[in-house]
Amino acid sequence: MEFDHILIRYGEMALKGKNIKQFINQLQQNIQQKIKDFPHVKVKRTQGRMFVLLNGNDPEPVMEKCKNVFGIHSLSLAIKVENDVDKIKDAALYALKNEDNVKKFKVTVKRINKDFPVRSQEMNQILGGHLLTNTNDITVDVHQPDVEIKVEIRKEATYITSGIVPGLGGLPVGTSGKSLLLLSGGIDSPVAGFLAMKRGVELEAIHFHSPPYTSERAKQKVLDLTKQLTKFGKSIKVHIVPFTKLQQEIFREMPDAYAMTIMRRMMFRISERVCEKEGILSLASGENLGQVASQTMQSMHTINEVTNYPIIRPLITMDKQEVIEISQRIGTYQTSILPYEDCCTIFVPKSPKTKPKRDRVNYYESTYNFSESIQEAIDGIETIKITDKKNLDESFSDLF
Ligand code: ATP
Ligand code: MG
Repeated sequence: MEFDHILIRYGEMALKGKNIKQFINQLQQNIQQKIKDFPHVKVKRTQGRMFVLLNGNDPEPVMEKCKNVFGIHSLSLAIKVENDVDKIKDAALYALKNEDNVKKFKVTVKRINKDFPVRSQEMNQILGGHLLTNTNDITVDVHQPDVEIKVEIRKEATYITSGIVPGLGGLPVGTSGKSLLLLSGGIDSPVAGFLAMKRGVELEAIHFHSPPYTSERAKQKVLDLTKQLTKFGKSIKVHIVPFTKLQQEIFREMPDAYAMTIMRRMMFRISERVCEKEGILSLASGENLGQVASQTMQSMHTINEVTNYPIIRPLITMDKQEVIEISQRIGTYQTSILPYEDCCTIFVPKSPKTKPKRDRVNYYESTYNFSESIQEAIDGIETIKITDKKNLDESFSDLF
Protein backbone atom coordinates (compact mmCIF):
# COMPACT_ATOMS: atom_id res chain seq x y z
CA MET A 1 0.00 0.00 0.00
CA GLU A 2 1.15 3.56 -0.65
CA PHE A 3 -0.15 7.08 -1.12
CA ASP A 4 -1.01 7.21 -4.79
CA HIS A 5 -2.88 10.54 -4.96
CA ILE A 6 -2.66 14.11 -3.77
CA LEU A 7 -6.05 15.58 -2.95
CA ILE A 8 -6.33 19.28 -3.82
CA ARG A 9 -8.95 21.42 -2.04
CA TYR A 10 -9.74 24.83 -3.55
CA GLY A 11 -12.42 26.53 -1.54
CA GLU A 12 -12.33 30.15 -2.71
CA MET A 13 -15.57 31.32 -1.11
CA ALA A 14 -16.21 34.34 -3.28
CA LEU A 15 -16.33 32.48 -6.58
CA LYS A 16 -19.52 32.87 -8.48
CA GLY A 17 -21.15 31.58 -11.62
CA LYS A 18 -18.99 31.57 -14.68
CA ASN A 19 -15.84 32.35 -12.72
CA ILE A 20 -15.79 28.92 -11.14
CA LYS A 21 -15.25 27.18 -14.44
CA GLN A 22 -12.42 29.49 -15.44
CA PHE A 23 -10.88 29.18 -11.97
CA ILE A 24 -10.89 25.39 -12.08
CA ASN A 25 -9.60 25.14 -15.64
CA GLN A 26 -6.77 27.52 -14.87
CA LEU A 27 -5.90 25.76 -11.62
CA GLN A 28 -5.72 22.41 -13.36
CA GLN A 29 -3.56 23.88 -16.10
CA ASN A 30 -1.22 25.54 -13.60
CA ILE A 31 -0.77 22.36 -11.58
CA GLN A 32 -0.19 20.37 -14.75
CA GLN A 33 2.43 22.86 -15.85
CA LYS A 34 4.30 22.59 -12.54
CA ILE A 35 4.44 18.81 -12.52
CA LYS A 36 5.00 18.13 -16.19
CA ASP A 37 8.54 16.88 -15.60
CA PHE A 38 7.39 13.99 -13.43
CA PRO A 39 6.72 10.99 -15.63
CA HIS A 40 3.10 9.78 -15.69
CA VAL A 41 1.83 12.20 -13.04
CA LYS A 42 -1.64 13.43 -14.03
CA VAL A 43 -4.22 15.89 -12.73
CA LYS A 44 -7.82 14.77 -12.64
CA ARG A 45 -11.07 16.45 -11.60
CA THR A 46 -14.14 15.19 -9.84
CA GLN A 47 -16.95 17.34 -8.46
CA GLY A 48 -15.53 19.98 -6.14
CA ARG A 49 -12.09 18.38 -5.95
CA MET A 50 -8.93 17.83 -7.86
CA PHE A 51 -6.57 14.89 -7.62
CA VAL A 52 -2.99 14.50 -8.65
CA LEU A 53 -2.39 10.90 -9.71
CA LEU A 54 1.13 9.97 -8.67
CA ASN A 55 1.37 6.79 -10.74
CA GLY A 56 4.34 5.45 -8.82
CA ASN A 57 6.17 8.77 -8.30
CA ASP A 58 7.53 9.72 -4.90
CA PRO A 59 4.81 11.97 -3.39
CA GLU A 60 7.09 14.50 -1.65
CA PRO A 61 8.64 16.35 -4.63
CA VAL A 62 5.27 16.51 -6.37
CA MET A 63 3.69 17.86 -3.18
CA GLU A 64 6.41 20.52 -2.96
CA LYS A 65 5.56 21.78 -6.45
CA CYS A 66 1.82 21.81 -5.77
CA LYS A 67 2.27 23.73 -2.52
CA ASN A 68 3.42 26.77 -4.52
CA VAL A 69 0.41 26.91 -6.82
CA PHE A 70 -2.00 29.75 -6.02
CA GLY A 71 -5.67 28.83 -5.74
CA ILE A 72 -5.15 25.79 -3.53
CA HIS A 73 -6.62 25.95 -0.06
CA SER A 74 -5.08 22.75 1.27
CA LEU A 75 -3.55 19.47 0.13
CA SER A 76 -3.43 15.95 1.49
CA LEU A 77 -1.77 12.76 0.48
CA ALA A 78 -4.48 10.24 -0.32
CA ILE A 79 -4.91 6.55 -0.95
CA LYS A 80 -7.51 5.42 -3.43
CA VAL A 81 -9.17 2.04 -2.91
CA GLU A 82 -12.22 0.22 -4.19
CA ASN A 83 -15.47 0.74 -2.34
CA ASP A 84 -14.84 -2.27 -0.14
CA VAL A 85 -14.93 -2.25 3.66
CA ASP A 86 -11.79 -4.38 4.17
CA LYS A 87 -9.76 -2.40 1.69
CA ILE A 88 -10.86 0.85 3.32
CA LYS A 89 -9.84 -0.55 6.73
CA ASP A 90 -6.33 -1.40 5.49
CA ALA A 91 -5.88 2.00 3.89
CA ALA A 92 -7.07 3.88 6.98
CA LEU A 93 -4.56 1.98 9.10
CA TYR A 94 -1.77 2.71 6.63
CA ALA A 95 -2.63 6.43 6.65
CA LEU A 96 -2.64 6.56 10.45
CA LYS A 97 0.67 4.74 10.79
CA ASN A 98 2.24 7.10 8.31
CA GLU A 99 1.76 10.02 10.72
CA ASP A 100 4.38 10.72 13.39
CA ASN A 101 3.73 11.34 17.07
CA VAL A 102 0.05 10.58 17.08
CA LYS A 103 -1.57 10.01 20.46
CA LYS A 104 -5.16 10.85 19.60
CA PHE A 105 -7.00 10.39 16.35
CA LYS A 106 -10.41 10.81 14.86
CA VAL A 107 -12.06 9.17 11.87
CA THR A 108 -14.49 11.11 9.70
CA VAL A 109 -16.40 9.24 7.03
CA LYS A 110 -18.28 11.04 4.27
CA ARG A 111 -20.58 8.79 2.28
CA ILE A 112 -21.13 10.77 -0.90
CA ASN A 113 -22.10 7.61 -2.76
CA LYS A 114 -25.39 6.66 -1.15
CA ASP A 115 -25.30 3.24 -2.87
CA PHE A 116 -22.50 2.20 -0.54
CA PRO A 117 -24.22 -0.23 1.85
CA VAL A 118 -22.67 0.86 5.17
CA ARG A 119 -23.80 4.21 6.60
CA SER A 120 -21.27 6.85 7.63
CA GLN A 121 -21.84 6.50 11.36
CA GLU A 122 -21.42 2.74 11.30
CA MET A 123 -18.39 3.03 9.05
CA ASN A 124 -16.84 5.46 11.54
CA GLN A 125 -17.17 2.86 14.27
CA ILE A 126 -15.84 0.00 12.16
CA LEU A 127 -12.76 2.01 11.19
CA GLY A 128 -12.19 3.47 14.67
CA GLY A 129 -12.29 -0.04 16.13
CA HIS A 130 -9.92 -1.38 13.50
CA LEU A 131 -7.38 1.38 14.13
CA LEU A 132 -7.54 0.95 17.92
CA THR A 133 -7.06 -2.80 17.70
CA ASN A 134 -4.06 -2.52 15.40
CA THR A 135 -2.06 0.23 17.14
CA ASN A 136 -0.60 0.78 20.60
CA ASP A 137 -1.01 3.75 22.96
CA ILE A 138 -3.39 5.62 20.68
CA THR A 139 -6.85 6.76 21.64
CA VAL A 140 -9.83 8.33 19.94
CA ASP A 141 -10.41 12.02 20.57
CA VAL A 142 -13.07 13.63 18.42
CA HIS A 143 -12.49 17.14 19.81
CA GLN A 144 -8.73 17.59 19.70
CA PRO A 145 -7.19 14.83 17.61
CA ASP A 146 -3.54 14.95 16.54
CA VAL A 147 -4.66 13.56 13.23
CA GLU A 148 -7.96 13.18 11.45
CA ILE A 149 -8.32 10.24 9.10
CA LYS A 150 -10.77 11.35 6.45
CA VAL A 151 -12.59 8.82 4.36
CA GLU A 152 -14.59 9.91 1.34
CA ILE A 153 -16.71 7.23 -0.24
CA ARG A 154 -17.40 8.41 -3.78
CA LYS A 155 -19.02 6.79 -6.79
CA GLU A 156 -15.84 5.68 -8.46
CA ALA A 157 -13.76 4.85 -5.39
CA THR A 158 -12.96 5.70 -1.78
CA TYR A 159 -10.23 8.17 -0.86
CA ILE A 160 -8.45 8.05 2.49
CA THR A 161 -6.38 11.01 3.68
CA SER A 162 -4.65 11.97 6.91
CA GLY A 163 -2.47 15.09 7.32
CA ILE A 164 -3.58 18.39 5.85
CA VAL A 165 -0.98 20.71 4.38
CA PRO A 166 -2.07 24.32 3.95
CA GLY A 167 -1.83 25.73 0.42
CA LEU A 168 -1.10 29.36 -0.52
CA GLY A 169 -4.76 30.25 -1.08
CA GLY A 170 -5.52 33.06 -3.51
CA LEU A 171 -6.55 32.64 -7.12
CA PRO A 172 -4.84 30.67 -9.90
CA VAL A 173 -2.33 32.83 -11.77
CA GLY A 174 -3.87 33.73 -15.12
CA THR A 175 -7.43 34.31 -13.89
CA SER A 176 -6.98 38.05 -13.29
CA GLY A 177 -5.16 39.33 -16.34
CA LYS A 178 -1.63 40.66 -16.50
CA SER A 179 0.37 43.29 -14.72
CA LEU A 180 3.75 44.86 -15.42
CA LEU A 181 5.77 44.73 -12.20
CA LEU A 182 8.34 47.46 -11.61
CA LEU A 183 11.09 45.28 -10.25
CA SER A 184 14.03 47.00 -8.59
CA GLY A 185 16.11 44.33 -6.92
CA GLY A 186 15.18 45.52 -3.43
CA ILE A 187 13.14 43.68 -0.82
CA ASP A 188 9.77 45.20 -1.62
CA SER A 189 9.03 44.79 -5.30
CA PRO A 190 9.45 40.97 -5.44
CA VAL A 191 7.03 40.68 -2.51
CA ALA A 192 4.62 42.99 -4.35
CA GLY A 193 4.90 40.69 -7.36
CA PHE A 194 4.21 37.63 -5.24
CA LEU A 195 1.11 39.23 -3.71
CA ALA A 196 -0.22 40.37 -7.09
CA MET A 197 0.19 36.80 -8.30
CA LYS A 198 -1.75 35.65 -5.27
CA ARG A 199 -4.79 37.45 -6.67
CA GLY A 200 -4.46 35.55 -9.94
CA VAL A 201 -2.40 38.17 -11.77
CA GLU A 202 0.12 37.00 -14.33
CA LEU A 203 3.31 39.09 -14.40
CA GLU A 204 5.77 40.64 -16.74
CA ALA A 205 8.54 42.69 -15.15
CA ILE A 206 10.35 45.88 -16.05
CA HIS A 207 13.71 46.94 -14.66
CA PHE A 208 15.51 50.24 -15.14
CA HIS A 209 19.19 49.64 -15.50
CA SER A 210 21.92 52.30 -15.61
CA PRO A 211 25.21 50.85 -16.76
CA PRO A 212 28.02 51.51 -16.01
CA TYR A 213 26.70 53.01 -12.76
CA THR A 214 24.84 49.80 -12.12
CA SER A 215 26.67 46.55 -12.79
CA GLU A 216 25.88 43.35 -14.64
CA ARG A 217 25.51 41.73 -11.24
CA ALA A 218 22.73 44.15 -10.32
CA LYS A 219 20.91 43.11 -13.47
CA GLN A 220 21.57 39.44 -12.77
CA LYS A 221 20.10 39.94 -9.31
CA VAL A 222 16.84 41.12 -10.85
CA LEU A 223 16.78 38.10 -13.17
CA ASP A 224 17.42 35.82 -10.18
CA LEU A 225 14.55 37.40 -8.26
CA THR A 226 12.31 36.94 -11.27
CA LYS A 227 13.27 33.29 -11.42
CA GLN A 228 12.29 32.91 -7.78
CA LEU A 229 8.88 34.40 -8.59
CA THR A 230 8.27 31.94 -11.42
CA LYS A 231 8.12 29.22 -8.79
CA PHE A 232 4.64 30.55 -7.95
CA GLY A 233 3.34 30.96 -11.48
CA LYS A 234 4.19 31.02 -15.12
CA SER A 235 7.30 32.13 -16.94
CA ILE A 236 7.93 35.87 -16.70
CA LYS A 237 9.24 38.23 -19.37
CA VAL A 238 11.65 40.82 -17.98
CA HIS A 239 12.09 44.07 -19.89
CA ILE A 240 15.45 45.67 -19.12
CA VAL A 241 15.39 49.36 -19.91
CA PRO A 242 18.70 51.15 -20.58
CA PHE A 243 18.10 54.16 -18.35
CA THR A 244 21.53 55.80 -18.10
CA LYS A 245 21.16 58.57 -20.62
CA LEU A 246 17.72 59.66 -19.51
CA GLN A 247 18.76 59.59 -15.89
CA GLN A 248 21.86 61.66 -16.57
CA GLU A 249 19.75 64.18 -18.43
CA ILE A 250 17.28 64.42 -15.60
CA PHE A 251 19.98 65.00 -13.05
CA ARG A 252 21.74 67.50 -15.28
CA GLU A 253 18.73 69.50 -16.43
CA MET A 254 16.25 69.38 -13.60
CA PRO A 255 16.55 70.98 -10.15
CA ASP A 256 18.21 68.58 -7.79
CA ALA A 257 15.30 68.45 -5.38
CA TYR A 258 12.89 67.33 -8.11
CA ALA A 259 15.10 64.89 -9.97
CA MET A 260 13.95 61.86 -8.02
CA THR A 261 10.28 62.60 -8.63
CA ILE A 262 10.86 63.23 -12.32
CA MET A 263 12.88 60.04 -12.62
CA ARG A 264 9.96 58.09 -11.15
CA ARG A 265 7.55 59.72 -13.56
CA MET A 266 9.80 58.63 -16.42
CA MET A 267 9.69 55.07 -15.11
CA PHE A 268 5.89 55.09 -15.19
CA ARG A 269 5.78 56.71 -18.64
CA ILE A 270 8.08 54.07 -20.10
CA SER A 271 6.28 51.28 -18.26
CA GLU A 272 2.99 52.39 -19.73
CA ARG A 273 4.47 52.25 -23.23
CA VAL A 274 5.59 48.67 -22.59
CA CYS A 275 2.08 47.82 -21.36
CA GLU A 276 0.56 49.19 -24.54
CA LYS A 277 2.92 47.13 -26.63
CA GLU A 278 2.29 43.95 -24.65
CA GLY A 279 -1.44 44.36 -24.11
CA ILE A 280 -1.07 44.67 -20.35
CA LEU A 281 -3.70 46.63 -18.42
CA SER A 282 -2.02 47.49 -15.13
CA LEU A 283 1.23 48.21 -13.32
CA ALA A 284 2.41 46.79 -10.00
CA SER A 285 4.98 48.27 -7.66
CA GLY A 286 6.53 47.80 -4.24
CA GLU A 287 5.62 51.30 -3.12
CA ASN A 288 4.66 51.69 0.48
CA LEU A 289 3.17 54.72 2.08
CA GLY A 290 5.60 56.69 4.20
CA GLN A 291 8.41 54.17 4.20
CA VAL A 292 10.92 56.54 2.64
CA ALA A 293 10.79 60.21 1.82
CA SER A 294 9.92 59.58 -1.82
CA GLN A 295 6.82 57.66 -0.79
CA THR A 296 4.73 60.36 0.77
CA MET A 297 1.12 60.85 -0.30
CA GLN A 298 2.13 64.04 -2.07
CA SER A 299 4.92 62.31 -3.92
CA MET A 300 2.66 59.46 -4.99
CA HIS A 301 0.07 61.97 -6.21
CA THR A 302 2.67 63.73 -8.33
CA ILE A 303 4.29 60.60 -9.72
CA ASN A 304 0.94 59.04 -10.49
CA GLU A 305 -0.11 61.98 -12.64
CA VAL A 306 1.67 60.61 -15.71
CA THR A 307 -0.37 57.42 -16.03
CA ASN A 308 -4.01 56.53 -15.69
CA TYR A 309 -3.27 52.83 -15.63
CA PRO A 310 -4.30 51.12 -12.41
CA ILE A 311 -1.27 50.59 -10.18
CA ILE A 312 -1.39 47.59 -7.90
CA ARG A 313 0.45 48.41 -4.68
CA PRO A 314 0.03 45.35 -2.49
CA LEU A 315 2.43 46.62 0.20
CA ILE A 316 0.68 49.91 0.79
CA THR A 317 -0.69 48.91 4.18
CA MET A 318 2.24 46.87 5.43
CA ASP A 319 4.97 47.48 7.95
CA LYS A 320 8.51 46.79 6.77
CA GLN A 321 8.74 43.81 9.11
CA GLU A 322 5.71 42.18 7.50
CA VAL A 323 7.25 42.64 4.07
CA ILE A 324 10.55 41.15 5.24
CA GLU A 325 8.76 38.13 6.68
CA ILE A 326 7.01 37.43 3.40
CA SER A 327 10.23 37.86 1.45
CA GLN A 328 11.94 35.35 3.72
CA ARG A 329 9.07 32.91 3.36
CA ILE A 330 9.01 33.08 -0.44
CA GLY A 331 12.80 32.87 -0.73
CA THR A 332 13.62 36.26 -2.24
CA TYR A 333 15.11 37.89 0.86
CA GLN A 334 18.65 36.54 0.58
CA THR A 335 18.93 37.73 -3.01
CA SER A 336 17.29 41.10 -2.29
CA ILE A 337 19.80 42.00 0.42
CA LEU A 338 22.84 41.44 -1.82
CA PRO A 339 24.56 44.82 -1.86
CA TYR A 340 24.54 45.60 -5.59
CA GLU A 341 23.70 49.19 -6.31
CA ASP A 342 20.55 50.07 -8.23
CA CYS A 343 19.84 53.13 -10.30
CA CYS A 344 17.98 54.85 -7.48
CA THR A 345 20.77 54.50 -4.99
CA ILE A 346 23.37 55.90 -7.35
CA PHE A 347 21.62 59.05 -8.44
CA VAL A 348 20.44 60.25 -5.09
CA PRO A 349 19.89 63.97 -4.80
CA LYS A 350 21.17 65.55 -1.61
CA SER A 351 17.80 66.81 -0.48
CA PRO A 352 14.89 65.47 -2.53
CA LYS A 353 11.55 67.18 -2.10
CA THR A 354 9.41 65.03 0.13
CA LYS A 355 6.27 66.89 -0.94
CA PRO A 356 6.71 67.59 -4.64
CA LYS A 357 3.81 69.46 -6.23
CA ARG A 358 2.38 68.56 -9.61
CA ASP A 359 2.48 72.07 -11.02
CA ARG A 360 6.13 72.58 -10.09
CA VAL A 361 7.14 69.29 -11.65
CA ASN A 362 5.12 69.96 -14.78
CA TYR A 363 6.76 73.33 -15.09
CA TYR A 364 10.31 71.93 -14.82
CA GLU A 365 9.55 69.10 -17.24
CA SER A 366 8.23 71.62 -19.76
CA THR A 367 11.60 73.37 -19.86
CA TYR A 368 13.40 70.45 -21.46
CA ASN A 369 12.55 67.98 -24.20
CA PHE A 370 13.06 64.43 -22.96
CA SER A 371 11.13 62.69 -25.70
CA GLU A 372 14.12 61.60 -27.72
CA SER A 373 15.82 59.99 -24.74
CA ILE A 374 12.59 58.34 -23.68
CA GLN A 375 12.22 56.85 -27.14
CA GLU A 376 15.84 55.75 -27.13
CA ALA A 377 15.35 53.98 -23.81
CA ILE A 378 12.28 52.21 -25.18
CA ASP A 379 14.05 51.23 -28.39
CA GLY A 380 16.92 49.80 -26.37
CA ILE A 381 14.83 47.49 -24.22
CA GLU A 382 16.19 43.98 -23.90
CA THR A 383 13.55 41.38 -23.14
CA ILE A 384 14.46 38.16 -21.40
CA LYS A 385 12.04 35.34 -20.77
CA ILE A 386 12.58 33.65 -17.42
CA THR A 387 11.16 30.19 -16.85
CA ASP A 388 11.24 28.14 -13.69
CA LYS A 389 13.52 25.63 -15.39
CA LYS A 390 17.27 25.69 -15.15
CA ASN A 391 19.19 27.34 -18.00
CA LEU A 392 16.32 27.47 -20.44
CA ASP A 393 15.88 31.20 -20.46
CA GLU A 394 15.93 32.90 -23.78
CA SER A 395 16.68 36.47 -24.61
CA PHE A 396 15.00 38.35 -27.43
CA SER A 397 15.62 42.05 -27.92
CA ASP A 398 13.68 42.65 -31.10
CA LEU A 399 10.38 43.30 -29.39
CA PHE A 400 10.34 47.01 -30.17
P1 ATP B 1 12.24 48.02 -3.35
O1 ATP B 1 12.58 47.33 -2.07
O2 ATP B 1 11.25 47.27 -4.19
O3 ATP B 1 13.46 48.47 -4.11
P2 ATP B 1 12.06 50.56 -2.08
O4 ATP B 1 11.55 50.43 -0.69
O5 ATP B 1 13.54 50.65 -2.31
O6 ATP B 1 11.45 49.35 -2.94
P3 ATP B 1 11.74 52.87 -3.81
O7 ATP B 1 13.18 52.90 -4.15
O8 ATP B 1 11.04 54.13 -3.46
O9 ATP B 1 11.33 51.85 -2.65
O10 ATP B 1 10.99 52.23 -5.06
C1 ATP B 1 9.60 52.10 -5.05
C2 ATP B 1 9.19 51.15 -6.16
O11 ATP B 1 9.56 51.67 -7.44
C3 ATP B 1 9.88 49.80 -6.07
O12 ATP B 1 9.26 48.93 -5.15
C4 ATP B 1 9.75 49.33 -7.49
O13 ATP B 1 8.45 48.83 -7.73
C5 ATP B 1 9.94 50.61 -8.29
N1 ATP B 1 11.36 50.78 -8.68
C6 ATP B 1 12.34 51.45 -8.05
N2 ATP B 1 13.51 51.35 -8.71
C7 ATP B 1 13.29 50.60 -9.81
C8 ATP B 1 14.09 50.11 -10.89
N3 ATP B 1 15.38 50.40 -10.99
N4 ATP B 1 13.50 49.36 -11.84
C9 ATP B 1 12.19 49.07 -11.75
N5 ATP B 1 11.39 49.47 -10.76
C10 ATP B 1 11.92 50.23 -9.78
MG1 MG C 1 14.77 50.00 -3.81
